[in-house]
Amino acid sequence: MLTRRTFLRTLAAGAATLVPLGGGRFLRRLPLGRRSPVPALVAAPTVDRTLVELNGLTGGAGAAAVAYAASPPQPTGPGIPGRRWVMVIDLARCDGCRECTRACQGMHFTPAGQEWIRVYELRDNEVAAPYWFPRPCMQCDNAPCVKVCPVSAAWKREDGIVMQDTSRCIGCRFCIAACPYGARSFNWVQPPETEAQQSLPYSDEWNQRHRKGTTEKCIFCPGLVKEGRLPACVAACPMGAIYFGDQEEDAVTNSQGETVRFSELIRQNAGYRFLEELGTEPRVYYLPPRKRVYPAPPDEPQPATRGVHP
Ligand code: SF4
Ligand code: SF4
Repeated sequence: MLTRRTFLRTLAAGAATLVPLGGGRFLRRLPLGRRSPVPALVAAPTVDRTLVELNGLTGGAGAAAVAYAASPPQPTGPGIPGRRWVMVIDLARCDGCRECTRACQGMHFTPAGQEWIRVYELRDNEVAAPYWFPRPCMQCDNAPCVKVCPVSAAWKREDGIVMQDTSRCIGCRFCIAACPYGARSFNWVQPPETEAQQSLPYSDEWNQRHRKGTTEKCIFCPGLVKEGRLPACVAACPMGAIYFGDQEEDAVTNSQGETVRFSELIRQNAGYRFLEELGTEPRVYYLPPRKRVYPAPPDEPQPATRGVHP
């Protein structure tokens, strides 16, 4: 179990690489061109997924990366027009069952050990009962991971989703260092694929195929959302603790079919965004774990007292 302090310290380690989020600052701070020489000819996949060769790049890896990033991928366009997806997680309802994590793993065939939505057990002090804190990718509007990626493998859609194209990822892991939420995973080995997976085409809207040497993360299930369905984690939550919807429409829905006004839900329940002070502008909101709707977990057994006889 993590204490809130340990949890924050862990996240702060990731945030240590973070500087105040101004446009383009990350890229300038990273001396890409000084690391290692690269051939002048670089093969790069384009938006339509053909390979092209970038000729005449003389400035080393930095120049190659900048040229590569000059044509950011838009395979799914700006997302769904007029929408701005948002998630609300009610900590008073989450009972720590981790059905959300399992549903996400099943939907995306995530490699072993990866949890794109991870449920932390937190306890604020010795007197209070623990509570649970599901952490997906926050789909930051001012996303540090997007700023540092030298090849635009991560990008922000206009409907709010931070996409991840593993076919472009070169495995530098700058995004992992930049994310203050620890929301990204890295494939150190080639993940084994099931037969069902192998029959699927590559799609960054579904992210069901995985490749060694690339980073991955929660993407708010844009494939499901495009079909008018809730993300897998939201639909699977038996407590209805996760709401998902459109901030423009001011409506969010949970697995129980409860649709409520987003603005009222946040205002009336003191909703907050995690580590908001970093300026990441997350698209995930939390409701504090007050008046929980499930019984407090039983106390842990105390160690036997020595020297006391019945
Ligand atoms: S929470 Fe998501 S969008 Fe924000 S920095 Fe981390 S990976 Fe990027
Ligand atoms: S929104 Fe989709 S990708 Fe993100 S945690 Fe939920 S199930 Fe996983």
